Amino acid sequence: MSTLRRTKIVATLGPSTDHQPTLVAMIRAGVDGVRINCSHGSRDDFIRRAWQARDAAATAGRHVAIVYDLQGPKIRLHEASGRADLGEGDQVRIVGEPGAKGAKDTLVVDWPGVVDAAEPGTSELVIGDGAPRIAIAERTKGALVGTCVIPGTALPRKGAFLTHAQVTQMALTDKDRTDVRTALDAGVDFIALSFVNAAEDIRELRGEILGSSVRIIAKIETLSAIDHLEEIIDAADAVMVARGDLGVEAGVSRVPLLQKRIIQAANERGKMVITATQMLESMIDAPEPTRAEASDVANAVIDGTSCVMLSGETAVGRYPIEAIGQMASIALAAQDGVTPLRAEGGTPDEGRTTAESVMGAAVLLAREIKADALVIPTETGGSARAAARFRPRRPILALCSDADVARQLALEWGVIPEPLHQRPAEPIDALVERCLLRAQRRLGLPDGARVVLTSGPQVATPGATSLIAVHRLGATG
Ligand code: PEP
Repeated sequence: MSTLRRTKIVATLGPSTDHQPTLVAMIRAGVDGVRINCSHGSRDDFIRRAWQARDAAATAGRHVAIVYDLQGPKIRLHEASGRADLGEGDQVRIVGEPGAKGAKDTLVVDWPGVVDAAEPGTSELVIGDGAPRIAIAERTKGALVGTCVIPGTALPRKGAFLTHAQVTQMALTDKDRTDVRTALDAGVDFIALSFVNAAEDIRELRGEILGSSVRIIAKIETLSAIDHLEEIIDAADAVMVARGDLGVEAGVSRVPLLQKRIIQAANERGKMVITATQMLESMIDAPEPTRAEASDVANAVIDGTSCVMLSGETAVGRYPIEAIGQMASIALAAQDGVTPLRAEGGTPDEGRTTAESVMGAAVLLAREIKADALVIPTETGGSARAAARFRPRRPILALCSDADVARQLALEWGVIPEPLHQRPAEPIDALVERCLLRAQRRLGLPDGARVVLTSGPQVATPGATSLIAVHRLGATG
């Protein structure tokens, strides 16, 4: 069994990780990325946590990506909505005007667009974690009328979801725009967008971060995101299976197959995918996970997820370091079960760039000659990402000029990022020599080990990877 873990780990920051030695220990135990959740805390908390994470990563001597997770448009029941104990079959009116006084059978949502956005006959209004749930039957006189299908109590300020919404409201709220500025000030590596409905939402966020190299993660947690899955994956740099809110919208029973579908679609398109929420939930209060949780993490790994994520387990849990240790062990033990979704190297197919095809060939070659590693000098990270999509069994050592690129690559499946400054005037032979030396040292390979190294005709030229060579370490060529 390989001792290099290929599936990466993202840990959510919070009060339990504010103690710096804890954060350093978590990173040493295997954290590859941290998540700052904008749904909780102030701008000062977000910036402080970003700096603490940078500091802790430097102390631990590891590249750690920072993921900044925007809150998105969380819809709630309005204050004017009184308590309603709903039983199955009860008739309910739903309005979006705060002025409308909540009568006994009326729920007031703090989103005026709710009435127009609903699709009677298909949409459901889901309160809290899934109960009560109201099937919308018709739109009449500025209100929606529906029937309660899952009983429960609706209270003011509870979260509310409208499934299959005809979206009139973009995913990016005013708070999100302010948080994006904070994210850019804090120098984060990824921004995650919540409640994405369509590719247009991603393009809007891209407009906000123009000129920065921050990468965008689309959180898949609505049924309309499922309806537009492929176009959203194409528009984003990565996706997250946000199982918490997805479970509320789609119903918990549909989450497992939706998770598999999202991971597969992301793998097929060569995009990074994070599987999130409740992976080791019991570890919020216990030092060991349940067997079911271990199986859940392992199954996500076997399905081909790039990263597994912890939320409450690290943010507010009692055992954040142990949770990382357990997740790392489970991911490591499961990784030999990863079946590449396509044969290594793949088949010539849909719209690959030349660089992607070159990396496919390099992966195939590395497998055939049983090379010890793939060594990839990369300017933008693109070549290393292209290699990762083929899920090779050998380590992908990405030698990057830029620390920003190294941090972003920290979350890519199987990629070991390592800084190596490329000098534009350096002859390519000299660069190759330096790369081989660094690879031998970083991976601890013996003299005589063989690696596959990719390069371009010139140093430091993004997108120009076109050469593949086999090298024996400690010997010329
Ligand atoms: C989720 O819903 O699963 C998720 C990751 O998002 P959040 O933690 O912001 O609810």
